[in-house]
Amino acid sequence: MGTLRIVASMTQSSFWPHRGGRRGAPLVGFALLVAGCVGGGTIDDSPGGQSSTGGTSANGGESPGTGGDGAGPTTDGGSNVGGDPSGAGGQGGDPGVCLQATEPCADPSECCEGFTCGNTTLGQVCCGMDNAPCATANGEDCCGDLLCVAGQCLAAGAYPNFQAPFPCDESWTYSHHDMEVRRALDFVNDNGATDARPALAAAAGVATQHYEAGGAGNYIVVEHGGGWKTYYFHLQAFSVGDGTAVAQGQEVGLIGSTGASSGPHLHFEELLNGQGMDIVINGQALAPYPGSYFEQSIVSENGCPP
Ligand SMILES: [Zn+2]
Repeated sequence: MGTLRIVASMTQSSFWPHRGGRRGAPLVGFALLVAGCVGGGTIDDSPGGQSSTGGTSANGGESPGTGGDGAGPTTDGGSNVGGDPSGAGGQGGDPGVCLQATEPCADPSECCEGFTCGNTTLGQVCCGMDNAPCATANGEDCCGDLLCVAGQCLAAGAYPNFQAPFPCDESWTYSHHDMEVRRALDFVNDNGATDARPALAAAAGVATQHYEAGGAGNYIVVEHGGGWKTYYFHLQAFSVGDGTAVAQGQEVGLIGSTGASSGPHLHFEELLNGQGMDIVINGQALAPYPGSYFEQSIVSENGCPP
């Protein structure tokens, strides 16, 4: 009986209902105690390095020139790219036929709508400009030095269109405390339970499963390409298999309190080439970070109907 009572008193739900009825200051301190990362310094600086994808962050982020290593898409490796524009021109004479991204071209008019004729690591091919959709691992279908990040042609270092890792319209408050790793933020739900709520992919990518005792607990890493990754720590369950390609807004796990955590919350990070970046969601920078919950919140637009 006594044991049961202790267990029950440790659940968030037994404390949470008091939240609304209390005054701000003591509540905030209490909330941090209840749901936050503890001993964050133990968390490996780059847990993504254990990724079973093997790709880690070296996916062409800073060196698109090295990308053409046999993963070369469908065309013939650019052998006749510049030298034989007439070949492409002949096809172009057929109305209704247009050249797809990565196909050699001589003039932008030959390329399908949304693409232009430019230089990529494949030579002079039809390719996408800034923000155009793309589908290659190393940006071969994005013009110039643009990378293909989460299905979008972006300049190196430009943030993908990260959305909040929560379902549409949910409001979550966030904080960053002194012992926190990198530029992470911890999130708890503003209006309801945090425990067992879905954590959603902030952008499209490949999700991998990880575990770190005494640190991140069960966590998902989503690799977005272009050196970008997002982290989802302390999950109580995984919702996708290891190595799954996920869409933006797809559930990757259920929020929990595994690892170095004092209560259910989602520890979320955006990293570029292994370095924690200031978190940007839906184009909005969340820095400067508040040190306590319930000072600032975001409302998710992830997966909202257009
Ligand atoms: Zn944290």
